[in-house]
Amino acid sequence: MKDWHEIRVNFALKAVQDAVCLASDIQNEMVSGAITKDDRSPVTVADFAAQAVVGYMLENALPGALLVGEEQADVLRSPAERETLEKITNFVKRLIPGVSPERVCDYIDRGVDNPGKNYWTLDPIDGTKGFLRGAQYACALAYVEDGVVQLGVLGCPNITPDLKQETNGEGSILIAVRGEGSWISTLRGDLSLDQFRVLAVSNSSRVEDARLMRSFESGHTNTSLVDAFQSALGGLADPVRMDSQVKYALLAAGEGEIYLRLLSPDRMDYREKIWDQAAGSIIVEEAGGTVTDLDGKTLDFSQGRTLRGNRGICASNGLLHNEALEALRAIKA
Ligand code: AMP
Ligand code: MG
Repeated sequence: MKDWHEIRVNFALKAVQDAVCLASDIQNEMVSGAITKDDRSPVTVADFAAQAVVGYMLENALPGALLVGEEQADVLRSPAERETLEKITNFVKRLIPGVSPERVCDYIDRGVDNPGKNYWTLDPIDGTKGFLRGAQYACALAYVEDGVVQLGVLGCPNITPDLKQETNGEGSILIAVRGEGSWISTLRGDLSLDQFRVLAVSNSSRVEDARLMRSFESGHTNTSLVDAFQSALGGLADPVRMDSQVKYALLAAGEGEIYLRLLSPDRMDYREKIWDQAAGSIIVEEAGGTVTDLDGKTLDFSQGRTLRGNRGICASNGLLHNEALEALRAIKA
């Protein structure tokens, strides 16, 4: 790859690797039988710790760069959250020895920027519900220029480099650079190019064999419309339900053909956040796939923290994209 050693690529890979490995340790140490079903504290701790690590690393690698992160530290600064902040700080100390709780808040708030002409966007833990279930989640970091994603990295602790789902397995890290391709390697390995394998989408153009993916959480999509889509397309298999941008990773690696995001009927006002789609979408595009809205238009990351006009996303291996858009029109999605 032409720019492999370029500072942005090195920063993004190392930051995601460190942040998501720490999150994975937090998952192992905090998500146990001892917590109640509604206790979200492990993911809260992991989310803030991961954003602090990326904020710290960006500050060192690219001091003036904008970072639009999902989290903000204001709640952590309140006395009521002191214990949570102490927990977060103790985990962050594993990577930044001696760091104070106040500095941890500052590193988290490195991500309070608004999107500009050029910016980074971070979802420290995408798929928080998957994280708590011991299922799929990812750390997602992307770099955007003029509304177009130029670089994306996904750290996925619970899929192997050959895309098998394995909790507490080897894990994988994926990167895409605009015009240069998408790659995958083992999460905890050496981050040099010769350790990465090129990703390519599925070459299947048979609608009847299309493997469709959707959110695990029914509340994040329109399940009856997904089923109607499957019938309109003529596919046979039930949609694969999975959390987080790991769905984009599977599509990029040829382990699925179509991924749909449709607005939940209960949340028609929901708008996709930029950090939930940026890294995953470039990884699919650079692996040869296509990612658009429901009308076939490319996603526009120049409108602030959300994809403002967007009402849904259709990602595919490219070969089935027109059929997918036609099926969407047929069901009036
Ligand atoms: P997924 O795991 O693919 O369902 O996507 C997870 C992301 O969806 C998380 O980052 C959530 O912030 C986001 N999300 C939250 N509420 C909704 C919603 N009503 N519709 C779609 N996505 C949502
Ligand atoms: Mg997310």
